[in-house]
Amino acid sequence: MSDASSLVIAGRSGQLDALEQTHFDLLIIGGGITGAGIAREAALRGLTVALVEARDFASGTSSRSSKLIHGGLRYLAMGDVKLVRETALERKRLHQLAPHLAEPKWMLAPARSRAGMMKFRAAITAYEKLGAVEDEDRHQNWQGDELSQNEPSLDRATYPFACAFREYLTDDVRLVLANLRAAKCNGAVALNYLAVTEIVHDAGRAVGAVTQCALTGRSLPIRARVVVNAAGPWVENVISLDDGSAPSRLHLSRGIHIVMDRSRLPVRNLVIMSTSDRRSIFAITRGDSVYVGTTDTSYPKQATEWPEIELEDVEYLLAPVSKTFKTDPLGPQDVIAAWSGIRPLIAKRGKQAKEISRRDEIWVSDSRLITIAGGKLTGYRKMAVEVIERVLDVASELTAKPAPANSAGAEEEPLPGGDFAGGLQNLATTLARETGVDEERAERLVRLYGTEAKKVVSLGCEPVVEGGSVVLGEIAWAVEHEAATGLEDVIYRRTRAALYCGRECDALLAPTARELQVRLGWSDAECRAQIDSVRGQRNADLAFQSDG
Ligand code: FAD
Repeated sequence: MSDASSLVIAGRSGQLDALEQTHFDLLIIGGGITGAGIAREAALRGLTVALVEARDFASGTSSRSSKLIHGGLRYLAMGDVKLVRETALERKRLHQLAPHLAEPKWMLAPARSRAGMMKFRAAITAYEKLGAVEDEDRHQNWQGDELSQNEPSLDRATYPFACAFREYLTDDVRLVLANLRAAKCNGAVALNYLAVTEIVHDAGRAVGAVTQCALTGRSLPIRARVVVNAAGPWVENVISLDDGSAPSRLHLSRGIHIVMDRSRLPVRNLVIMSTSDRRSIFAITRGDSVYVGTTDTSYPKQATEWPEIELEDVEYLLAPVSKTFKTDPLGPQDVIAAWSGIRPLIAKRGKQAKEISRRDEIWVSDSRLITIAGGKLTGYRKMAVEVIERVLDVASELTAKPAPANSAGAEEEPLPGGDFAGGLQNLATTLARETGVDEERAERLVRLYGTEAKKVVSLGCEPVVEGGSVVLGEIAWAVEHEAATGLEDVIYRRTRAALYCGRECDALLAPTARELQVRLGWSDAECRAQIDSVRGQRNADLAFQSDG
């Protein structure tokens, strides 16, 4: 960054000083959902916590998921009943904590015959029992007029029946940010762009880390009684820093999603589709966009922040669309955005990525570095509780309050923005009425920010691009409250414009960068470099379009 970003650096160097001077109970490496969940849980239990993230918060796997908080019906088919039960119950709890980040939606399983629908029904009934699903959320069977009214886009000649069951839609990055902010409210310190480059030992124990700030170049040690490695697909790199070994217990799998304009694929609900190799993929509606995913293929390389998206993957995802919906044929050129991420799965000999369970595992090294690997977004709170239990096991000198996430009936503070009842639609209507933003913008804003959307709008309610959906207040909010330090942070992760506002995204880059320039004190050259970098990444996301 240029000198002109001195304001940020001034604020930041104070934060870095504080990190260096404190002796924490816990140092967490990794600011994805796993690290963020652990930070919140630990801070709620009275531990002093520092979390460091090498790049931006949620810039790894936790911005690339299908964004479903789900019980994982497919894990039932794999016989993983415990995982199905835990996650199905978990989504209910998350809905209570953050209704905007766990929004109930109908997921449709289309069926070619009544017998097919009844077979699916048997599975879904077991799933609902495991997840203690409330009566009003139990599945429904749709056919005939009811099916055409509820999902007019479905090709009823092929699929005259469908079973509709409840799943929950989230936004993965917003969930990470909400957890980090909740952790901060309870005393935790969380910094992005601060990478662990070394694990520090004393008498054979991991007692902290050396970190390197990507914004200032400063290198600083952080001391902690216990170090937790929540680096997702990079956990084995951190283990190497601890003991010099080169472990290979992970099986990395790449997953790709593609986004289409809803006018080209007018889907109303979430819909399951079958692929040529008999996997289930989803079409998921979000605002004016519909995304389709995901692939699940082994990734035998080093984990990277931006895994490639190949034409073959895009064609694989598009193929079932024309077999499921009554749409004009869709091709790679209809894709307006795409994302790709790496799943850190626990390797199982002889199994392909798609056959491996999404279970998590905790590994404790001789130096008592605690590594949490595998898992799912959906189960992040349970994983956090397990990690804290393990921390307390290895470090008997630490004492903590009982786990809120574990104690039955315990009242938990909602996540930031989650303090409302009565549904997102009502919240959007109230926001539109009280602030004058139109309903469509209001819907998008409450889905991202919950009740805090009102504060966001108070910072600027005008759209950044004429007629667009992103409002100026979001840029200010991202910088002032959510530690955004660059254009990519804002476009890809805070506003999610790169994913869900594909049509408007390119037009957003220059005015958003100019707004950030004022707030962060960039030079003109820095501002141009930021735009070029994000434009370059957007082009790379869609590079498969020139491969045909
Ligand atoms: P990450 O999000 O990758 O976080 C790890 C962080 O550690 C990274 O941000 C990285 O930059 C940081 N880091 C690495 N090295 C260092 C270092 N040296 N110093 C500091 N920081 C470091 N789950 C669901 O529940 N529902 C879904 O619908 C779903 N869909 C998915 C679809 C796809 C395609 C994929 C890939 C996954 C999906 N998942 C889903 C799984 C879920 O996304 C992951 O389980 C979860 O995001 C993993 O989070 P994490 O925090 O462990 O890893």
